[in-house]
Amino acid sequence: STKYIKKEYILDNQTFAIIKPDAVKNKDTGLILDRILKADFHVLAGKLLHMSQEQAEGFYDIHKGKPFYDELIQFMSSGQCMVLALEKENAVEEWRNTIGATNPDEALEGTIRKDFATSVGLNAVHGSDSNENAQKEIAFFFSDGELRGN
Ligand code: UDP
Ligand code: MG
Repeated sequence: STKYIKKEYILDNQTFAIIKPDAVKNKDTGLILDRILKADFHVLAGKLLHMSQEQAEGFYDIHKGKPFYDELIQFMSSGQCMVLALEKENAVEEWRNTIGATNPDEALEGTIRKDFATSVGLNAVHGSDSNENAQKEIAFFFSDGELRGN
């Protein structure tokens, strides 16, 4: 079917990351970027921005209705963050392993959330959970022109 053929074209070497407002406020942007580069991710595109409430709602649409949703939208639109399109072989899984569990109390030693997150809500970074969502999330924040670099 068309659906099957289309899936073949979803890239498996890209993911989407956010250095969240808590980490930017704590001046951890540089240290987290260093972790990204040392873990051999290629930064395809990146920019600092302050999400509007509407942008945060659009981005986190899948969590609408969950108990933490309102707090999440308020937090993600509370200040500047850095959005990043990252490239590496098996990028989604590699990045999830690099950031660690959602709750920093459960994050393994050496992960970004273990070292920079303060709570399950204020957890320093975002990572896509699938190749399909990675492409959607990259397209949500970056234009084709911004992604054309090497
Ligand atoms: N979150 C929260 N409380 C929860 C679960 C999630 O505040 O009980 C926030 C947290 O910032 C998390 C985001 O909502 O990163 C998205 O949740 P998800 O379950 O997708 O976790 P992630 O994919 O970020 O690890
Ligand atoms: Mg998630």
